[in-house]
Order: sequence, then structure tokens, then C-alpha cells
Amino acid sequence: MSATVLVINSGSSSIKYQLINPATGDSLASGLVERIGEDEGHLVHKFGDVRVEESDSILDHGAGLRRVVELCAEVGPDLNASGVIAVGHRVVQGGALFDRAVRVTEDVRDAIASLIPLAPLHNAPNLRGIEVGQEVLPDIPHVAVFDTAFFQHLPKKAANYALERVVARKYGIRRYGAHGTSHQYVSQRVTELTGREDVKQVVLHLGNGASASAVASGSAMDTSMGLTPLEGLVMGTRTGDIDPATVFHLVRVAGMSVEQIDDLFNKRSGLKGLTGHNDMREVRGMANAGDVGARESLDIYVHRLRKYVGAYAAVMDGIDALTFTAGIGENDPYLRADVCEGLSFLGLEIDPELNAARSSEERVISTPDSKVTVYVVPTNEELEIARQSVALLSSPEAANAV
Ligand code: AMP
Repeated sequence: MSATVLVINSGSSSIKYQLINPATGDSLASGLVERIGEDEGHLVHKFGDVRVEESDSILDHGAGLRRVVELCAEVGPDLNASGVIAVGHRVVQGGALFDRAVRVTEDVRDAIASLIPLAPLHNAPNLRGIEVGQEVLPDIPHVAVFDTAFFQHLPKKAANYALERVVARKYGIRRYGAHGTSHQYVSQRVTELTGREDVKQVVLHLGNGASASAVASGSAMDTSMGLTPLEGLVMGTRTGDIDPATVFHLVRVAGMSVEQIDDLFNKRSGLKGLTGHNDMREVRGMANAGDVGARESLDIYVHRLRKYVGAYAAVMDGIDALTFTAGIGENDPYLRADVCEGLSFLGLEIDPELNAARSSEERVISTPDSKVTVYVVPTNEELEIARQSVALLSSPEAANAV
């Protein structure tokens, strides 16, 4: 029986889970519990050809996870016979406290709780997932894998803002980044695909949230998300980069509160704020139908991306590989073509046919003569969490952990 890991991503009203064989990358079962705490909850559990869907009230996260474990016993996979050696939890914010995955102890739970102010929408539900996970599956080691860990050792010049030092230090204000698990997985795949340890690469994770990273010789050199996931690229509902003085202006001129501005920048901006839709497929459909506003919005989206690729090539004094990943990066050839069109000064050239071909595989989409190899690599954060969990538990560090 080969070892498997149950990967859990717990949100404010949802639990996403997947049972993975980290050695083969196979997903053995997966599911989603949604609308926890609402009148009618929703659960989908998939195991091979079996698909169970339930609509019933789910009182809290504990009830949701208990139902998942029951379903595993009823329709499979039998968790007792699946060789589950770890439960790996996604935790968004590890602050300055975690630069790698750790086995969950009481101290670790306290530390994750202490970081809630930095990521209130994420760390609180992530911690809830860990707590109920340990209640429901007490005999299996639980591992926390942090979305910020890959960026914890950014060079100081990239991590630090030009903010008065006393304030920055006192309140822990620096670039923590996010989507680190995805950037780590994808950049590692590119290193393997190029066969070069010293590859200088830019990874563009373009999903509903979006971020860029510069990675040289396997280490992160810079990333676009900052203290929070708000900074950087244009996203589904977030502004990305915006002059911070916009906040003062909106307070003074529009009389808006901090909460209103937080909501505006995080939930009502980005593609949604510009076009009314956060989904790239809708925006592209509008642009194709001649909607001038949608076309302009795509121009803003692409302009920001090109700026980051150019800046990161400068940060690394060169670029060997550019990789697109996540929902938009993996599936939107028009977007990839638009971004790359403005990067010919780097000697980067994509092959239109390779770019247009639909595939869910890892692939090269640049021409053989292109000075920068352009890849599409499907991200797999769950597999990375599973692998990090196993690596931790088989390390001497874990053996010494209490
Ligand atoms: P993710 O957050 O990685 O699930 O990505 C979600 C984003 O991917 C949404 O904006 C979707 O519109 C976008 N997406 C998914 N499929 C496509 C596609 N075929 N073309 C353009 N965008 C897509």
C-alpha cells in the first residue's frame, strides 16, 4: 500500500479536500463542502467513477469534515486502508515565523492564530480547518504548509518597503507574498524541464488571484504580492498596484471608511470593477463582441503583466524561461499571445500554433530560436502540499518534533 496524504484547504464557509499519492501525483479522491453554516449546505465527493452530491445544512466545519470521513467509509476510499500518513493543511499567511512546512503542535496553532491580523480572511478559517482536522482525525500527523514560505527568504531589497524602519519593524510590514506553494511547484517543474539548476525564470500565476515571481537558481528573488495579496497584478476582483494615497483621497474626499475601501480594493475592483465581471472568459467574450471597455480592461491587465516581466528580467539580470500557470495562464492563448507580443525586445518569440493548441499538459509554446523559453505548466498546489508534508515527516527534524 503506497502512502497517501489528505490535503485540506479550509475557507470561511468551505472545505476543499483531496487524497493524493505524492509519489505518483495521482488524485485518489476529492471533494468540496460549501455553504457551511448556511440554511442549505452543499457537498460533492468524488472517488473514481463515484460522485456523491448532497444538499443539507452543514452546521460547522467539524460537521462538514465528519461527513466527508463518513462518506469515505460509505462509498470510498476507505481511509483506514488508504495509507494516509499525513493531513496537509494549506495556510495562507506564515508571516516571518515559518519558512517551511511544519508539523502542527499547540505552539504552531498559536503562531497561526497570532498571524490572523495579517490575513483575517484566510488564516482564521485555515486554523479552523486544522482544529477540526485534528479532532476528526486525531491519530494522523497534521502538517501546515504556508503560502508565504517560498518567499520568506527574499533578498531584503525585495522584501522591504521604504517605510520608516521603526514602524515597519513594530508592525511586521514587509513583502510576504502569496501563492508561494504554486510558484514553488511550477518553478521546480521548469527547473526540471530545462535541466538547468541556474535557470532565471518568471512565473505568472494567473487565476482569479494573480501573482508573478522571479526565481533564480531555485530561490525566489521577488514577487508581486506584498504585505497582503492585494499588491501587484490586476486580478479578478483586486486592484493590484495602486497609489496608496488613493486611500487618503477616498477618506478625505469621499468620506469612505477603512472597511469600505478594503472592500472596494479587494472585492469590487480588478476585472470586476472595470467590466462588471471577474471571470476572464466573460471579459474576453465582451471584448470579442466589440465592447470597448472590456478591450481597454484587457489592455490594463496585459500592460501590468508586461511591466512585471520586464522588471523581473532586470532584477535577475536576464531571463531564460517565462511560465504561465493557473486558470487564465493555462487556458487563455490570447492573453499569452498579448503578453508575449510586447516582450520581443527580450528575444522572446512564441509559436502561434503551439500557443493555440489546447492541452492540459506541460508544454513549450516558444519557437526553437526564442532566447526565452515560454512554458505552460498546470499548477498543482495540492500535490506540492502533499509532497512537502511527506518530506517533512520523513526528515530528521520531524522525528525530533514533539
Ligand atoms: P483559478 O483561480 O486558477 O481557478 O482561475 C480562474 C480564472 O481562470 C477565471 O478568471 C476564469 O475565467 C479563467 N479561465 C478558466 N478557463 C479559461 C479559458 N478557457 N479562457 C480564459 N480564461 C479562463
